[in-house]
Amino acid sequence: TLFMSQTLKIATIAGDGIGKEVMPEGLRVLRAASQQFNIPLEIQTFDWANCDYYQQTGEMMPADWKAQLQGFDAIYFGAVGWPATTPDHVSLWGSLLKFRREFDQYINLRPVRLFEGVPCPLAGRKAGDIDFLVVRENTEGEYTNLGGVLFEGTDREIVIQESVFSRIGTDRVLRYAFELANQRPRKSLTVATKSNGIAISMPWWDKRADAMAANYPEVAVDKQHIDILSARFVLQPQRFDVVVASNLFGDILSDLGPACTGTIGLAPSANLNPERNFPSLFEPVHGSAPDIYGKGIANPIAMIWSGAMMLQFLGYADAHDAILKSVEDILKAGPHTPDLGGQASTQDVGKAIAQNINT
Ligand code: ATP
Ligand code: MG
Repeated sequence: TLFMSQTLKIATIAGDGIGKEVMPEGLRVLRAASQQFNIPLEIQTFDWANCDYYQQTGEMMPADWKAQLQGFDAIYFGAVGWPATTPDHVSLWGSLLKFRREFDQYINLRPVRLFEGVPCPLAGRKAGDIDFLVVRENTEGEYTNLGGVLFEGTDREIVIQESVFSRIGTDRVLRYAFELANQRPRKSLTVATKSNGIAISMPWWDKRADAMAANYPEVAVDKQHIDILSARFVLQPQRFDVVVASNLFGDILSDLGPACTGTIGLAPSANLNPERNFPSLFEPVHGSAPDIYGKGIANPIAMIWSGAMMLQFLGYADAHDAILKSVEDILKAGPHTPDLGGQASTQDVGKAIAQNINT
């Protein structure tokens, strides 16, 4: 680079299970990319937000966790959860969900892409057919604690669960999705809705989408009901470019998408505060995978790709592209972990991807 760039401060939290195995490979590739592209990285490791820490202290994180992380540009996160010792709702609510909420990471971004060399569960699909992004609203919508039970325990029992859609919260996720679509060659945005069934919030959501669309005349907008949209993920995945959805719909789509492209071991995600008022968080979609932990066979690519997204978000698109290209090469012809039918170890794959960047 021609300019003196600012140091990127990265907080790493490996978490539990295979988070501890894939994190070193993610860092290996980040370091290789930072060498190649002259990215000044400052990496600090935090040994909390894991279930061992919870067993020792009764908390997932120290009381001042927010102050400790606030000054970082990003959090690079492995996986959290160890149900054998700690209930999942405790580990999740005590760490990741606190980050999302307290750091206002209102965008959950998941790329969905089919690579050459990866068997696709959808018949007849080849690399290039599937390449889209799911943008999920990450802070409000259907996931609230508002509501209650009336006549509890009787046969007149009534349960009410409210959804919350604010104009600010809705517009900011729509704006992000339109901006993203506008930057991509296809300039196409699919808006997930259900305004034919959810009679108050979803017609309103559609109206906000129409209002936002007026600012982006070049983006082709297509509103689709969530039921048919899900079917099309499977039947016509090639038609999607950027897909934006509410918290619940986005949650479902952002699992369905990666499931359509092979193993969960490849899928990355970003939890973004686009204004960078707070650190954003980059993590693989998969969990701590207790069933394979300790064998050294976890696929590190989801972690590595998440690191590439982190560099892209922080202004190093060229480093992102180089990492992705290296991942593509290795998936095409290189060591594969057992989830992809190979026999390579986590380290073999991480090393191959890192070396391939430097050549
Ligand atoms: P979550 O923690 O999100 O609730 P989970 O605990 O249900 O998810 P995961 O930990 O993601 O699920 O594991 C689901 C399955 O996928 C397991 O069989 C696990 O071994 C496998 N798996 C997950 N991640 C990887 C990976 N990186 N490489 C290979 N297999 C993986
Ligand atoms: Mg889990």
